[in-house]
Amino acid sequence: MFKRTNSELDGLSAVGLSTAYNLGKSCEKSEKVLVLEKFMYFNQAGSSGDFVRMFRTMYSDIDLCKLALKARDLWTELEKEANVELIKMTGLLNFGDPNYQDGPEGNLTKPIEIMNQLNMEYQQLSSTEIMEQYPFRNLPSNFKGVFAKDNGIINVFLTLRILYKLAQKYNVELRENEEVTKLELNKENHSEDHNVIVTTIRKNVINGTQETMTYSAKKVIITAGAYVNNVIKSLNFQIQLCIWEMVFMYFTLDAVSNPPIQVPSMWFNFQDATPDSKSNLFYGFPEVSWGPENQTRIAVDYASRMIYDPNERHIGVSEYEPQITSNWVEKHCIGVQKQPVFQGTCLMPNVHDNNFVLDFAPEKVLGPAHKNIIIFTAGWAFKFVPLLEKCLSQLAINGCTEYDISNYNINRKDVLKNDKDKPPKNPVYKPQPL
Ligand SMILES: Cc1cc2nc3c(=O)[nH]c(=O)nc-3n(C[C@H](O)[C@H](O)[C@H](O)COP(=O)(O)OP(=O)(O)OC[C@H]3O[C@@H](n4cnc5c(N)ncnc54)[C@H](O)[C@@H]3O)c2cc1C
Repeated sequence: MFKRTNSELDGLSAVGLSTAYNLGKSCEKSEKVLVLEKFMYFNQAGSSGDFVRMFRTMYSDIDLCKLALKARDLWTELEKEANVELIKMTGLLNFGDPNYQDGPEGNLTKPIEIMNQLNMEYQQLSSTEIMEQYPFRNLPSNFKGVFAKDNGIINVFLTLRILYKLAQKYNVELRENEEVTKLELNKENHSEDHNVIVTTIRKNVINGTQETMTYSAKKVIITAGAYVNNVIKSLNFQIQLCIWEMVFMYFTLDAVSNPPIQVPSMWFNFQDATPDSKSNLFYGFPEVSWGPENQTRIAVDYASRMIYDPNERHIGVSEYEPQITSNWVEKHCIGVQKQPVFQGTCLMPNVHDNNFVLDFAPEKVLGPAHKNIIIFTAGWAFKFVPLLEKCLSQLAINGCTEYDISNYNINRKDVLKNDKDKPPKNPVYKPQPL
């Protein structure tokens, strides 16, 4: 089938859905937006699985901090339009060893400088104060805490469903079980509506049949996350991604203790690796009403399994992360059962500097028509979803954006893969706070 469409998006998850909604709102009535999703809607195949993500403004990078502040206002607009609460503002406690240096996010104290610079509110805590206010024990006496209240828990479950409804409200066409298998720039193009030819395989999951489809589009936005290289391979370039199979875990909270166990806010522990644990960057969330009852999500910002193609993903979870997290929980968490009740993985695509790739396809590969294809992948992006949607829509409609995206350039060093590059044996990708 050959179908005309003005904008086409590959990947119907957080970023794809929100961009579709924004495009649907911004486009002329005569223009159409089509979103194609390889799997079913609301799948757990990419990065947007599980119930919660952190919205935080405490960053060691001032640009990301400023972006987060802008994103916060856009979340508020989205909440108003949908008339729901998407972020539960509990605040965030960063705590740990003030001498912790590792990782591109630096240490506990760097965000303080930035918050001072930007006149943001925060509060510092001693180790004793942390243990008085949070259900933690045995924290070393040199530990310090920094609490910022304008940080909160993103309701991932609701956000995806709200974006889905809003996209439909603005007449976006959404298709599941349809995988983009090939993209080509249309060389015999006589109209800008046919700039890119998109080939897909549409699966009928009821009767098991499949058919090949072809579309032509004015612009294509690729929001396939960890799968980006599978989508762009027909365009003859690849991105150097290292994909973390990150483990999330839920632990039972004591439901009947008196006084009740309260985890007042999200938390993140900065601590160097120790001989018994390759990472001590543990983090947690309070129980949420949209998640499993009397369960707290605790995990480690580390992945023992790193892959280079999502098709290499393991079935099941590595034992390492549950083991070290369970040890940490036993030592430091009060009223939390040591064994996780359930666990799963989400794919986290990283480029070497842990930042986003947000740009047009490279001109050096595709020539002057490169602006017809726009790419977003990598980075800790959920908190930026309403900002990314604006940015990607502006790139598609205007060919430029009001936001400074120069740090996320696809041509920056070591982002594009050369044929001779092999996956690094000891990847340099470092952990950073979410
Ligand atoms: C464990 C974990 C914790 C995280 N914590 C945080 C956090 O606290 N705060 C934060 O801001 N961020 C966090 N992140 C990052 C954040 O979750 C991701 O940046 C975000 O979910 C990315 O969304 P996405 O829509 O770009 O990608 P995805 O959710 O991966 O969506 C991509 C979609 O594209 C589809 N697709 C793939 N190939 C094709 C194809 N060929 N054709 C059609 N469709 C295709 C996939 O099926 C998928 O549905 C975390 C990530 C992980 C893994």
